[in-house]
Amino acid sequence: MSIEKNNKSKAEELKEKLFSKKKNGCVTESENVIKEADSFCEGYKTFLDAAKTEREACAEAVKLAEKNGFSPFDKSKKYQPNDRFYFVNRNKSVILGVMGSEPLENGLRISAAHIDSPRLDLKQMPVYESDEICYFKTHYYGGIKKYQWPTIPLSLHGVIFKSDGSRVDVCIGENDDEPAFCVSDLLPHLAQEQMKRTPGELIKGEELNIIIGSRPFKDDEVSERVKLSVLNLLFEKYGITEDDFLSAELEAVPAFKARDIGFDRALIGAYGQDDRVCAYTALQAILNCRNPKKTCLTVLTDKEETGSDGNTGLNSSYLKFFVYTLAEMYGAKGHDVLSASECLSADVNAAFDPTFPDVFDKKNSTRINYGVAVTKFHGARGKSGTSDASAEFVSRMRLLLDKNQVIWQTGELGRVDLGGGGTVAMYIANLDVEVIDVGVPVISMHAPYELTSKFDVYMAFRAFSVFFAD
Ligand code: MN
Ligand code: MN
Repeated sequence: MSIEKNNKSKAEELKEKLFSKKKNGCVTESENVIKEADSFCEGYKTFLDAAKTEREACAEAVKLAEKNGFSPFDKSKKYQPNDRFYFVNRNKSVILGVMGSEPLENGLRISAAHIDSPRLDLKQMPVYESDEICYFKTHYYGGIKKYQWPTIPLSLHGVIFKSDGSRVDVCIGENDDEPAFCVSDLLPHLAQEQMKRTPGELIKGEELNIIIGSRPFKDDEVSERVKLSVLNLLFEKYGITEDDFLSAELEAVPAFKARDIGFDRALIGAYGQDDRVCAYTALQAILNCRNPKKTCLTVLTDKEETGSDGNTGLNSSYLKFFVYTLAEMYGAKGHDVLSASECLSADVNAAFDPTFPDVFDKKNSTRINYGVAVTKFHGARGKSGTSDASAEFVSRMRLLLDKNQVIWQTGELGRVDLGGGGTVAMYIANLDVEVIDVGVPVISMHAPYELTSKFDVYMAFRAFSVFFAD
């Protein structure tokens, strides 16, 4: 028998015992876990390409739910444990549920992510011609750096309701054989004056005009011949006239496809990962949820990027009303159910970016490949506009994730007083639910092309899964 020599000094031993043990998950975890993460993210990339808007994400979630035995919510039914249902709110948000074996008064397990992302919305009178080029006027949605949106290919998604009330679905610019659209920018040679503008004004809101055509109608007599020719094409393709834009919701988004980034393929680059990265992982968690004790819900919501107001956002009552309805079906009180419930507010956090270290407190930032982020609070200035999860609930999550080998980290969104942000956490916490923010760190958040780590994405899925199974 050989004697193992302990070469560690007292200081080394103590350091091992006392210092934080948070490490890069791609170092600590086995090749198998990394492989599982890589293969999980293949489905995620497919979802990103298929669901670029809240309407598409809602439809895609319903499609996947139906494949997995979920059916439309029916309040006349008596759901048995493990029964699966979904409830669609105005085609832009959806609640998916799996009945638990315990009574509803024991509380729900809710994961709530949002499926809207920053983009360029068309104005209601969007079509105009200027000097023989035809454009769409836009009004940007959510927090964007406007200068990032010119000179990239854009696709157009949404719905148009015609004068007879019939609906036309639009999705154009995603396939290689379809045209895309584009906002222009000045050439550097002539940008001297433009470059003197403040960065926020480098491209102004009213300069985010999308080029949609330039070949005039062959008729010398009429004016606005390019607009005429474009409207004619739109009539041929969709049967719409200019006034039909009045009752349309059209969103221009980057036409990029999701793809692997880096020689090691460790990252995913794609539009709208805030917050479809949490939407997809929370969706997969509920689809794979079997025989839970508590009734589990995944909520995919709209309007987070504009402050959660509106009847498809979580500052409205749709989630509360749904829970009250569910409670009534079992003779329970809605407020009793909510008060006993727990929620993971599933949203992204800003990952530390070594190129811009100054905006982060390195010790309190999330980092790519360190696992799913558990964030006690967001908010701005003196923690305003946040739900600060209690130490008790952080402890509960810490034990749950550690027990189930979910690699996780924590971090604030940037340095104190530098800015800040919010999530849906506070709206759900305001319903008297125990809430904490859990999500994936993102590099270049809110840019047309955002980066996440496959390892972190997979750990988010594992976090939502063990929360439902608990
Ligand atoms: Mn978000
Ligand atoms: Mn956001």
